[in-house]
Amino acid sequence: PTADSMMALSKEHWLDSSTGVYKNYVKGSFVEAQDSGTFHSVFNPATNELIGKVPDTSDAEFDSIVAKAQTAFEDWKTVPVQQRQRVMLEYQRLIRENTNELAGLITLENGKTIADAKGDVFRGLEVVETACQAAPLLLGDSLAGIATNIDCISYREPLGVCAGIAPFNFPAMIPLWMFPLAVTAGNTFVLKPSEKTPGASMLLADLATKAGLPEGVLSIAHGGKSTVDNICRHPAIKAISFVGSNAAGEYIHEEGSKHGKRVQANLGAKNHAVLLPDASRDATVKAIVGAAFGAAGQRCMALSTLVCVGKTQEWIDDIVQGAKELTVGGGFDVGVDVGPLISTQSQERVHHIIDQAAKEGAQVPLDGRQKGNVEGYPNGNFVHPTVLANVSTENIAYREEIFGPVLTCVEPVDTLEEAIQLINGNPYGNGVALFTSSGAAARKFTHEIQAGQVGINVPIPVPLPMFSFTGNKASIRGDINFYGKSGVQFYTQLKTVTTNWPVDENTDLGGVIMPTM
Ligand code: NAD
Repeated sequence: PTADSMMALSKEHWLDSSTGVYKNYVKGSFVEAQDSGTFHSVFNPATNELIGKVPDTSDAEFDSIVAKAQTAFEDWKTVPVQQRQRVMLEYQRLIRENTNELAGLITLENGKTIADAKGDVFRGLEVVETACQAAPLLLGDSLAGIATNIDCISYREPLGVCAGIAPFNFPAMIPLWMFPLAVTAGNTFVLKPSEKTPGASMLLADLATKAGLPEGVLSIAHGGKSTVDNICRHPAIKAISFVGSNAAGEYIHEEGSKHGKRVQANLGAKNHAVLLPDASRDATVKAIVGAAFGAAGQRCMALSTLVCVGKTQEWIDDIVQGAKELTVGGGFDVGVDVGPLISTQSQERVHHIIDQAAKEGAQVPLDGRQKGNVEGYPNGNFVHPTVLANVSTENIAYREEIFGPVLTCVEPVDTLEEAIQLINGNPYGNGVALFTSSGAAARKFTHEIQAGQVGINVPIPVPLPMFSFTGNKASIRGDINFYGKSGVQFYTQLKTVTTNWPVDENTDLGGVIMPTM
């Protein structure tokens, strides 16, 4: 794919050719959004060329989209689960068939490299694959004979209309964390993609319809905060899945909960890697370079913070060398490792943090600002890999989630114990990784560390979809995790049925006193 071919695909289907406005997805078709008067510009981050404008869905149109989702729910919930799984089986095939297009749309709007964008699609595809066999997870419980003639059964039932609010950084994977399981469980779904990277969601919705998902089961309502507020407040929406920053997610969790909805919210991060001297040096350095700078550091599981124990601080020189060797450029170009940041505001913010970190005493063994922009892309939002060293925990670079290609190496510590204390003192608790050849150190770390996802010699330990994504501390709000068994639990409610079939007309059906046996 190229930027031009992806623009052509978008214009053919969901970008209105005269206005450049993204269409909503309603009843299985792309439809022109009613004019709400406010728009969000979508830019190609490598060039800052305007791709199109995402409309805020008007209140009236939002209500009408939810009403259609409610109507669709009445039929969809009665479709046998095997049939719902069959739709997912066809859906996974179509996603595979359209991986290049999905990846191309991601690269066009998000900037990440095509190879990385294919990973974005693939990780989402794996959730669809698990949805193909969701039925065993939807089983309830039963127990016969809990009293004379009395049996008890529980069913997992769908909730109704669910909604998803997605971030810019995984335009395919994160929507796919949400709606495939929700709809396979019998719900209908309204998705609000990131207003910065809506294209992949548009193609994903269209493919879902082609796979056999009936009209109204999956809709897309575009927008920013006003659409989010409508999602949080609409009485027919029963559950909200959110992934994004703390500022937005804490608000959505509160506002959605206040309106009686279930809310699951995966939030920001500050992921630490701990290096022990007994780790394999070259392999560890390579893993750190990849995990810190891949996707230009714009992954919630990016290994952005390094804690060197003892003499591993000497390895920082190797990391700097590895980082220098990465190729920065446009995501469609062959051989590129690191693409641009999502926006000029992000680029400026990352520049500011590097600047301020240095003023607050950090060393800057590799300064990605100095190289400026990339040849052929004079207007892109590029920041080259940057390494900050000897950073105190008071420093801005340690306190804030940078979300850019910046590796923050904190002041080295002497022991694993100190490393654990430092990490446990950080408010976030998304991912963490330890590099070591010691089983005893690994076990101590695993059991004492306060983080949702722990990697031992695994830099980015994102759980596969038979497990669940498990944040900790400020990296999560809500109490039921995304995908896996938890995902099914989030999108269903239990109903318990107790039956007493009288054997004759004299069978006792209960009296005034609560039974004691
Ligand atoms: P963001 O919070 O800016 O946007 C996410 C969504 O929230 C978007 O759909 C946006 O329209 C909406 N939104 C933004 N501001 C809002 C506001 N004030 N009120 C209501 N809604 C608002 O996040 P982003 O920049 O798109 O994504 C990056 C963030 O997401 C990072 O913090 C990253 O760590 C986090 N993230 C977390 C995970 C995880 O699983 N923990 C995964 C991916 C990204």
